[in-house]
Amino acid sequence: MATTKKTTKAARKGLEDLFLDGLKDLYYAEKKILRTLPKMARAAESEEVTAAFEKHRIETEGHVDRLEEVFEKIGRSARGKTCPAIDGIVEEGSEVLEEYEGAPALDAGLVAAAQAVEHYEIARYGTLIAWAEQMGKRDVADLLNATLKEEMATDEALSRLGEGGVNERALQQAA
Ligand code: FE
Ligand code: FE
Repeated sequence: MATTKKTTKAARKGLEDLFLDGLKDLYYAEKKILRTLPKMARAAESEEVTAAFEKHRIETEGHVDRLEEVFEKIGRSARGKTCPAIDGIVEEGSEVLEEYEGAPALDAGLVAAAQAVEHYEIARYGTLIAWAEQMGKRDVADLLNATLKEEMATDEALSRLGEGGVNERALQQAA
Protein backbone atom coordinates (compact mmCIF):
# COMPACT_ATOMS: atom_id res chain seq x y z
CA MET A 1 0.00 0.00 0.00
CA ALA A 2 2.78 2.39 0.90
CA THR A 3 4.40 1.82 -2.48
CA THR A 4 1.71 3.85 -4.26
CA LYS A 5 3.04 7.00 -2.66
CA LYS A 6 6.71 6.43 -3.32
CA THR A 7 6.98 8.79 -6.25
CA THR A 8 5.48 11.77 -4.42
CA LYS A 9 7.70 14.44 -2.94
CA ALA A 10 6.38 13.72 0.54
CA ALA A 11 7.56 10.13 0.29
CA ARG A 12 11.17 11.32 -0.04
CA LYS A 13 11.08 13.64 2.95
CA GLY A 14 13.66 12.78 5.57
CA LEU A 15 15.27 14.06 8.72
CA GLU A 16 16.77 17.10 6.97
CA ASP A 17 13.28 18.18 5.94
CA LEU A 18 11.94 17.67 9.45
CA PHE A 19 14.86 19.63 10.84
CA LEU A 20 14.35 22.55 8.46
CA ASP A 21 10.62 22.67 9.17
CA GLY A 22 11.33 22.63 12.91
CA LEU A 23 13.89 25.39 12.52
CA LYS A 24 11.40 27.59 10.64
CA ASP A 25 8.77 26.89 13.28
CA LEU A 26 11.13 27.94 16.05
CA TYR A 27 12.29 31.02 14.14
CA TYR A 28 8.68 32.15 13.85
CA ALA A 29 8.11 31.34 17.53
CA GLU A 30 11.19 33.21 18.81
CA LYS A 31 10.29 36.32 16.82
CA LYS A 32 6.73 36.19 18.14
CA ILE A 33 8.05 35.85 21.71
CA LEU A 34 10.37 38.80 21.12
CA ARG A 35 7.32 40.96 20.32
CA THR A 36 5.30 39.58 23.25
CA LEU A 37 7.78 39.85 26.14
CA PRO A 38 7.77 43.69 26.28
CA LYS A 39 3.98 43.64 26.61
CA MET A 40 4.23 41.14 29.45
CA ALA A 41 6.98 43.16 31.13
CA ARG A 42 4.82 46.30 31.00
CA ALA A 43 1.77 44.45 32.31
CA ALA A 44 3.45 42.81 35.33
CA GLU A 45 2.76 44.37 38.72
CA SER A 46 5.97 43.47 40.51
CA GLU A 47 9.41 44.73 39.60
CA GLU A 48 10.93 41.29 39.87
CA VAL A 49 8.54 39.80 37.30
CA THR A 50 9.08 42.76 34.97
CA ALA A 51 12.85 42.34 35.37
CA ALA A 52 12.63 38.61 34.58
CA PHE A 53 10.69 39.28 31.38
CA GLU A 54 13.08 42.04 30.34
CA LYS A 55 16.10 39.86 30.97
CA HIS A 56 14.62 37.11 28.84
CA ARG A 57 13.70 39.53 26.06
CA ILE A 58 17.37 40.36 25.70
CA GLU A 59 18.26 36.66 25.71
CA THR A 60 15.57 36.02 23.10
CA GLU A 61 17.28 38.47 20.74
CA GLY A 62 20.27 36.17 20.99
CA HIS A 63 18.07 33.14 20.28
CA VAL A 64 16.89 34.72 17.03
CA ASP A 65 20.52 35.47 16.11
CA ARG A 66 21.58 31.88 16.84
CA LEU A 67 18.79 30.49 14.67
CA GLU A 68 19.94 32.75 11.85
CA GLU A 69 23.43 31.34 12.34
CA VAL A 70 22.01 27.83 12.10
CA PHE A 71 20.18 28.68 8.85
CA GLU A 72 23.47 29.99 7.51
CA LYS A 73 25.36 26.87 8.56
CA ILE A 74 22.93 24.59 6.72
CA GLY A 75 22.96 26.86 3.67
CA ARG A 76 19.34 28.00 3.87
CA SER A 77 17.86 31.47 4.09
CA ALA A 78 16.31 32.33 7.45
CA ARG A 79 12.57 32.04 7.07
CA GLY A 80 9.82 31.47 9.58
CA LYS A 81 6.83 29.18 9.21
CA THR A 82 3.64 29.97 11.09
CA CYS A 83 3.58 28.03 14.34
CA PRO A 84 -0.04 27.68 15.52
CA ALA A 85 1.18 26.23 18.82
CA ILE A 86 3.05 29.37 19.89
CA ASP A 87 0.25 31.57 18.53
CA GLY A 88 -2.13 29.67 20.84
CA ILE A 89 0.14 29.84 23.87
CA VAL A 90 0.67 33.58 23.37
CA GLU A 91 -3.06 34.06 22.84
CA GLU A 92 -3.74 32.41 26.19
CA GLY A 93 -1.19 34.74 27.78
CA SER A 94 -3.02 37.72 26.30
CA GLU A 95 -6.24 36.46 27.84
CA VAL A 96 -4.59 36.40 31.28
CA LEU A 97 -3.37 39.93 30.66
CA GLU A 98 -6.87 41.18 29.82
CA GLU A 99 -8.87 39.17 32.30
CA TYR A 100 -6.57 39.74 35.29
CA GLU A 101 -5.60 43.34 34.75
CA GLY A 102 -5.29 44.95 38.18
CA ALA A 103 -6.05 41.65 39.93
CA PRO A 104 -3.89 40.18 42.72
CA ALA A 105 -3.35 37.02 40.66
CA LEU A 106 -2.08 38.83 37.55
CA ASP A 107 1.62 38.15 38.06
CA ALA A 108 1.05 34.50 38.96
CA GLY A 109 -0.90 34.15 35.72
CA LEU A 110 1.79 35.92 33.69
CA VAL A 111 4.54 33.76 35.16
CA ALA A 112 2.52 30.64 34.31
CA ALA A 113 1.94 31.89 30.75
CA ALA A 114 5.66 32.57 30.33
CA GLN A 115 6.48 29.12 31.63
CA ALA A 116 4.21 27.53 29.03
CA VAL A 117 6.23 29.38 26.38
CA GLU A 118 9.53 28.16 27.85
CA HIS A 119 8.31 24.57 27.98
CA TYR A 120 7.28 24.73 24.32
CA GLU A 121 10.71 26.05 23.39
CA ILE A 122 12.48 23.46 25.53
CA ALA A 123 10.57 20.67 23.78
CA ARG A 124 11.40 22.03 20.31
CA TYR A 125 15.06 22.78 20.97
CA GLY A 126 15.53 19.35 22.54
CA THR A 127 14.18 17.66 19.42
CA LEU A 128 16.21 19.80 17.00
CA ILE A 129 19.40 19.12 18.97
CA ALA A 130 18.78 15.36 18.80
CA TRP A 131 18.16 15.57 15.03
CA ALA A 132 21.22 17.77 14.44
CA GLU A 133 23.37 15.27 16.32
CA GLN A 134 21.83 12.39 14.35
CA MET A 135 22.83 14.18 11.13
CA GLY A 136 26.36 14.77 12.45
CA LYS A 137 25.92 18.53 12.64
CA ARG A 138 27.81 19.06 15.86
CA ASP A 139 28.27 22.83 15.45
CA VAL A 140 24.56 23.30 14.85
CA ALA A 141 23.72 21.19 17.90
CA ASP A 142 26.09 23.31 20.01
CA LEU A 143 24.40 26.55 18.93
CA LEU A 144 20.94 25.18 19.70
CA ASN A 145 22.15 23.80 23.01
CA ALA A 146 23.40 27.23 24.10
CA THR A 147 19.84 28.52 23.68
CA LEU A 148 18.28 25.47 25.32
CA LYS A 149 20.36 26.12 28.45
CA GLU A 150 19.03 29.68 28.64
CA GLU A 151 15.44 28.49 28.19
CA MET A 152 15.90 25.99 31.00
CA ALA A 153 17.47 28.59 33.27
CA THR A 154 14.56 30.93 32.53
CA ASP A 155 12.06 28.19 33.31
CA GLU A 156 13.75 27.63 36.67
CA ALA A 157 13.90 31.36 37.39
CA LEU A 158 10.15 31.60 36.69
CA SER A 159 9.50 28.73 39.11
CA ARG A 160 11.52 30.53 41.76
CA LEU A 161 9.51 33.71 41.17
CA GLY A 162 6.23 31.84 41.50
CA GLU A 163 7.23 29.91 44.56
CA GLY A 164 9.19 32.82 46.02
CA GLY A 165 6.23 35.08 46.61
CA VAL A 166 4.23 35.67 43.44
CA ASN A 167 1.83 32.76 44.02
CA GLU A 168 1.53 33.60 47.70
CA ARG A 169 0.68 37.22 46.95
CA ALA A 170 -2.03 36.06 44.56
CA LEU A 171 -3.47 33.96 47.38
CA GLN A 172 -3.18 36.48 50.22
CA GLN A 173 -4.60 39.47 48.42
CA ALA A 174 -7.49 37.45 47.13
CA ALA A 175 -8.50 36.61 50.70
FE1 FE B 1 13.91 31.40 23.16
FE1 FE C 1 12.42 31.50 25.93
